[in-house]
Amino acid sequence: MSVYTQPGKDGSVVTFKPRYEHFIGGQWVAPVKGQYFEDVTPVTGQAFTEVGRGTAEDIEAALDAAWAAAPSWNASTPTQRAIMLNKIADRMEENLELIAVAETWDNGKPVRETLNADIPLAIDHFRYFAGAIRAQEGHLSQLDEDTVAYHFHEPLGVVGQIIPWNFPILMAVWKLAPALAAGNCVVLKPAEQTPASILVLMELIQDLVPDGVVNIVNGFGVECGKPLASNKRIRKIAFTGETTTGRLIMQYASENIIPVTLELGGKSPNIFFEDVAQQKDGFYDKALEGFAFFALNSGEVCTCPSRALIQESIYDQFLADGIDRVSKIVAGNPLDTDTMIGAQASTDQLEKVLSYLDIGKKEGAKVLIGGERAELEGDLAGGYYVQPTVFEGTNNMRIFQEEIFGPVLSVAKFGSYDDAISIANDTLYGLGAGVWARSGNTAYRAGRAIQSGRVWVNQYHSYPAHSAFGGYKSSGIGRENHLMMLDHYQQTKNMLVSYTESPQ
Ligand code: NAD
Repeated sequence: MSVYTQPGKDGSVVTFKPRYEHFIGGQWVAPVKGQYFEDVTPVTGQAFTEVGRGTAEDIEAALDAAWAAAPSWNASTPTQRAIMLNKIADRMEENLELIAVAETWDNGKPVRETLNADIPLAIDHFRYFAGAIRAQEGHLSQLDEDTVAYHFHEPLGVVGQIIPWNFPILMAVWKLAPALAAGNCVVLKPAEQTPASILVLMELIQDLVPDGVVNIVNGFGVECGKPLASNKRIRKIAFTGETTTGRLIMQYASENIIPVTLELGGKSPNIFFEDVAQQKDGFYDKALEGFAFFALNSGEVCTCPSRALIQESIYDQFLADGIDRVSKIVAGNPLDTDTMIGAQASTDQLEKVLSYLDIGKKEGAKVLIGGERAELEGDLAGGYYVQPTVFEGTNNMRIFQEEIFGPVLSVAKFGSYDDAISIANDTLYGLGAGVWARSGNTAYRAGRAIQSGRVWVNQYHSYPAHSAFGGYKSSGIGRENHLMMLDHYQQTKNMLVSYTESPQ
């Protein structure tokens, strides 16, 4: 089916095939068991294509292809890899609107985000790792006059990657770029809710990638993800998804003693200290925008600033201005470039968010705005839309402690600096946090005291390459988005050489 929209000056069209197969060994390959599943667009709630339903047999075929390609790709030079990554980035840039619309249709997020954030960030990510691998150097230890220890970076061989549905293309690229830069072949399993946009991307770039270097097998978690994560023939598994699934991935990997990197859930605090409201200037407006950022990507962001903590002395005024800002969020058709909040990605996710709206009300939190499913008209009536919702409550409530993954904000007040830090850290998670303060000293101290891998200060929701991203506590292991991720896709060969001809 074709999706027509006018996101850019020339308009754009993406045409999905009625059926997509796995991408294995450079070919489009039907699933061994011949089964397919429907891909539904959250924009209208209608199925628009079907996708191969992978099982252990398909994973084995993909691993055969990856290992067949490994001797050559593992031995490729950093320059060769960088050239390929840069070509992929160029090809994506040439097709930006097409990929952005495909992503919007598959996931339900606004096209203004896919056009201006998701896809440009993915493009830059390939370019960043193209540069990073060429700049990487090894180490040499001079142990004595005649003895040298060399430390070489070597690829792992073949790695497995499993990703979620909230940023399908960006999450795929966060995983693919460092793995490929480091010289590995990959078997990647996208999320079953959003398989199509990655396949559209693969069609666009397949001529740039040697056969077997990237293999995409679609399917469901236990049926297709588990045979990959528990496979003896992968040398590493990289996973992004829920914390509960991350635990399983670690168990599978422990059987084969292979390394894992995990990017998991979050319940991020966004703290507004009193000096934010010293004057109502541009900084104050920026802080209000930061308050409303919980609705970005319909709240389906692992770092969603889902807990706003506001200092008592400014609480009433700041909250009133914040709610006013939330009321101006433009909801509607994700394909319209003015839309700021689109659809939840799946019917399951819609149900989950609605159930938390109920939970919040039942546990006594006060609804300040929203609180219901958003009813849209025409073709969109069957889509999965929720009103941006702000609850007022306390940090012990479930809506403050559990990841909702929807446009739902829970707000509480704090008295002192110490209270703010203690509430912020009172969570299982430690992925993201926001600190808003004019005092550099307060911002610095709070930033260091919060137990999370990423703290945004006087900004939120920016994800540039070259800035490490990952979790403390139950939010994960490893740091993506930075050249330090290369360490997770390489092993160190130490060669200890004696250059003397005398006996030892
Ligand atoms: P999920 O854990 O349900 O699924 C993620 C992937 O794992 C999917 O591809 C799924 O098919 C697969 N999977 C499920 N069960 C499996 C199993 N037993 N074995 C192997 N694979 C299995 O997560 P989701 O609902 O798709 O994604 C939402 C979650 O992802 C949220 O918790 C969110 O916070 C997290 N997330 C984290 C980051 C980050 O960088 N920390 C980024 C995006 C999303």
